[in-house]
Amino acid sequence: MPTPTVLILGGTAEARALAVSLNDAGVPVVSSLAGRVRDPTRPVGEVRIGGFGGPGGLAEYLRERRIRAVVDATHPFAMGMSASAAAACDRTGVRLLRLARPGWGDHPLAGTWRWVDDTAAAAAAAAGHRVLLTTGRRTLGDFIDMAATFVLVRLVDPVSGPLPGGWSVVTSRGPYTLPGEVALMRDHRIEVLVTKDSGGAMTEPKLDAAQRLGVKVVILRRPPAEPGVPAVDGVPDAAAWVQDVAGR
Ligand code: NAP
Repeated sequence: MPTPTVLILGGTAEARALAVSLNDAGVPVVSSLAGRVRDPTRPVGEVRIGGFGGPGGLAEYLRERRIRAVVDATHPFAMGMSASAAAACDRTGVRLLRLARPGWGDHPLAGTWRWVDDTAAAAAAAAGHRVLLTTGRRTLGDFIDMAATFVLVRLVDPVSGPLPGGWSVVTSRGPYTLPGEVALMRDHRIEVLVTKDSGGAMTEPKLDAAQRLGVKVVILRRPPAEPGVPAVDGVPDAAAWVQDVAGR
């Protein structure tokens, strides 16, 4: 196997598409996954799984593997990994690009949603209602005390511990469809959708389904980007950057 010169921090469809694109172009890459999902969709090419142990561990990995460029293609809400990548690349002088799909701020319905800055505000906005919660496993604790009448949580993997009374879990992985999302919300008599500005087409149908059923949308704003890190929002631009920086 050729020595990888590019590290893709992944866990997203964009990261997998970039691995395909670079692989096809003959650029050896290694993709990194956090290891949170039980049965992750594996990118093509070399894959490593698990945290690096903070910026220091990542810096060491970059040196050891002689990585020349890093593309942070993690989820827009994966703040910890993005901060760690910025610090490690700064420390080692390795070039870093952020690849993040566009958010839903330009969605035709965006003006009808309640935009909030944090999970506390989202929980407060959903109080007293039947809620569909799609903000992910890591945020569950923030919503445990939410005064909702019913909560349906959608996750990729089942939860291991107990959940409060009035909560249930549905496990699934996108992409989702408009009829499927309408049926889910209608069957559970959902009144409020609590979600986050993940962006992308795979999980977008819930937003149209909510509008169709008169379900209120409460949406978490994205965390701020790492300062000073160049960013693109599409795979072709990221692939071009890699070709430019790391060469063939
Ligand atoms: P996070 O808070 O940014 O990351 C926490 C720690 O997990 C990082 O400091 C790092 O540990 C490790 N980590 C995260 N992404 C990694 C990667 N690609 N490769 C190796 N280690 C990684 O991340 P998160 O929000 O828990 O998300 C975890 C993963 O799931 C990310 O890769 C992300 O792309 C994907 N994902 C997240 C969401 C979301 O809503 N947050 C949604 C879909 C997919 P060390 O400090 O030990 O290096």
